[in-house]
Parts: sequence; structure tokens; C-alpha cells
Amino acid sequence: MHSHTEHGNNECKAWLLFKTPYKTAGVFMIVKQIWTGNAYRNFNYLIACAETGQALAIDPLDYKKCLAVAKENDWSVTQILNTHEHHDHTGGNQAMIAATKAKLLAHQNAKNSIAGIDTGLSAGDVIKVGNTVELLALDTPGHTMSHICLLSKTDEPALFCGDTLFNAGAGNCHNGGHPDDLYQTFTSQLSQLQDNTKIYPGHDYIDNNLEFTLAREPDNEQAKILLNQIKKQNPSQALISTLAMEKQINTFFRLHNQTIIAKLQQEFPDMAEQPSAKEVFLALRQLRNKW
Ligand SMILES: [Zn+2]
Ligand SMILES: [Zn+2]
Repeated sequence: MHSHTEHGNNECKAWLLFKTPYKTAGVFMIVKQIWTGNAYRNFNYLIACAETGQALAIDPLDYKKCLAVAKENDWSVTQILNTHEHHDHTGGNQAMIAATKAKLLAHQNAKNSIAGIDTGLSAGDVIKVGNTVELLALDTPGHTMSHICLLSKTDEPALFCGDTLFNAGAGNCHNGGHPDDLYQTFTSQLSQLQDNTKIYPGHDYIDNNLEFTLAREPDNEQAKILLNQIKKQNPSQALISTLAMEKQINTFFRLHNQTIIAKLQQEFPDMAEQPSAKEVFLALRQLRNKW
């Protein structure tokens, strides 16, 4: 199976230089990240089985771009997965289905908020793409209460995380979500994944998120280096992070960091001297709402 040099905490600069836009997460699973270039900065995805050419489209808002990429590669889109019910994720469904007859998959509780679901998903369901790709459905509430993330069952795992986890950030909770649930999702599910898990989010918000990281934790050297690097980044060839990287640069995974806690205590005088991880997460989420 596919492998490349992994990056330990002390080799931070190596991962910053290691940059290939369209990486495969396994020999048989091919991932294409599709930059929509729209105002919401959405990323769409195609996940294909190299053996059969069957593909699953994640949140194909820009169905034209997704169909063009499928055609280029001689793939047929047989399934669509909506991570959640927001329109910038579901808006391409009907046109994509009309063009491909693909089946629509989404959270089982999204049946009233997403039209035309063929398969309702719950935690632990496995989605097959062609002969070779298997994706595990994670039930990840917080951004909305019917949100699915997909985790590939490959040696080098890939997480398709919609609006739950972003590069250097977390989803907001003001359109049907709850920060307490987002905290639970981060600590009990996402942070438990393998460190080499590749992160494929639903939007390109990395610049602004890194600025937020540095506002909360000005001495985060990795975030400084990465911000300098990605300021010149073309989102159609975006850096793909790993969970290990996120744990270094994403404030929402750094809930025990003393710099972050000390700065929060200045803004929240009622915060405990040794605040819980949850208290830190909720305070960060609140500040990020106004960022
Ligand atoms: Zn959303
Ligand atoms: Zn979104």
C-alpha cells in the first residue's frame, strides 16, 4: 500500500515542504479535492475506486466542475454524500443526480432537511465505492446535529470532515448546531484518530484560521511558518494537512496550552484557574464567532 515518510513533531519544516496537491490515500482509493472558487470557498471531493472507475462525490455544489473531473478521469459518479444539510453542500445534488443517476447518502436524521435521500447513514455504517474503497461513517454533531464525516479504511487514513473540522479551525454552531456537541465530537472522536490521518475539509478557511490561532497563541511557531507559506497558496493546489499537524496549529485541539489558557483568562475573568478542556473549547468557539 501507499506510503511516504511520516513527519514527527520535530520535523515540522519537512511537512511544510512536502506538498503534492492530489495525493492518493491508498493505491486503490483516489481522492480529488475540487476547489469551487466561489464566495463561500467550498471544497468538493471525488473519491474513486481505481479498479472500477466508480466514484463518490462529496457535497458536489459545483457539479459542473465535479462532472468535468470525473469525465477527465473516465470515472462514473455512482454516489453522492452530503456531510450535512446546508445549502452550500446540498445545492448541486439535483443536477448531479440528473446527470449521473447517482444515489444520495446523508445522515439518517437529515431526511426532512435534504430532499431525495436514498440511504440514511448512522455511526458505523460502511460505504463502498467500487471494489476497493471503504469509507466509515462517523456521526459528528456540533456544526449541525445531522453531520456525517467519512473516514477511509486505508493504511493512511483520510477524513472528509465537511464543516466540522477545518484546517486550523472548527465549524461554527449558529445554523442548527451546538458548541457542547462540537466539543464532544472533537475530543471523543476526531482527536482519537490516527496522527497520519489526512484532513479534507469542506471549505478553504486556513488563512483566517491561522490568524485566529496566532491571536490566541502568539508564540505558536508552527502556525507562523505555515501562515507565511500558505499566504501564497493557490486553493486549487491546497496543502493537505494531517491530524498531527492540526494538533500543532489548530487552537481547538490545544485546550491544555498554557498560553491559550492565560490569554483566555484575561478576556473571561470568571474562568477557573485550571479550566476544563470543555470550558477552554467553548470560550475559543465564542471568540471565533466574532473574529
Ligand atoms: Zn455548514
Ligand atoms: Zn459549508
